[in-house]
Amino acid sequence: MSSKKSKRGRLGARGDLVVDEKQGTLSAYGERFLLIPVKLIHAIEDRLTESFGPITATSFQYEIGKEGGAQYVRLAQKVGIGIKGFSDVQRIASSLGTLDGWGKVEIVDFDFAKKFARIRWKNGVSVRNRKGKTAVCHFGRGVLTGAVEEIFGRRLESIEVSCQGKGDRFCEAVVGEPKEISRLIETRP
Ligand SMILES: [Zn+2]
Repeated sequence: MSSKKSKRGRLGARGDLVVDEKQGTLSAYGERFLLIPVKLIHAIEDRLTESFGPITATSFQYEIGKEGGAQYVRLAQKVGIGIKGFSDVQRIASSLGTLDGWGKVEIVDFDFAKKFARIRWKNGVSVRNRKGKTAVCHFGRGVLTGAVEEIFGRRLESIEVSCQGKGDRFCEAVVGEPKEISRLIETRP
């Protein structure tokens, strides 16, 4: 952490996090951030589920997450990160995903031509136990989908094909064209 303002236009070291005690603000990459307990995310998930039922709650978390994901990519672009290839995407995932505490994020496949991505992560914020029957990372999957949408410049959908919340070794989402994702959902065992 540094106490003075940093204008270095790079992603990576958390040395870019600026704590302004006088103003009560945190910022990184020239934008304001917030450090919140993960249990606050859980409270939001629980409240949405109680009030609207699991299907609508899932959709809310996913759509809100998408907005956040787009913001992360705009942030990367703002500080001058070109997103031209696989290694650029992995770098953004490592700095804005992993280092921001979302979990350990790994890009498995990122196909610029087919507008398709496969992203894996461990220790996602929505995983509270390993005993669920369905995937639980709706918020995180939304963040990833929104980020990929922003990179490809088109509307996409996704499915979490593996989730630690139901005992899998890792979480993994497939992000792609809506019709591709629908086809995947229909043909899944
Ligand atoms: Zn998951």
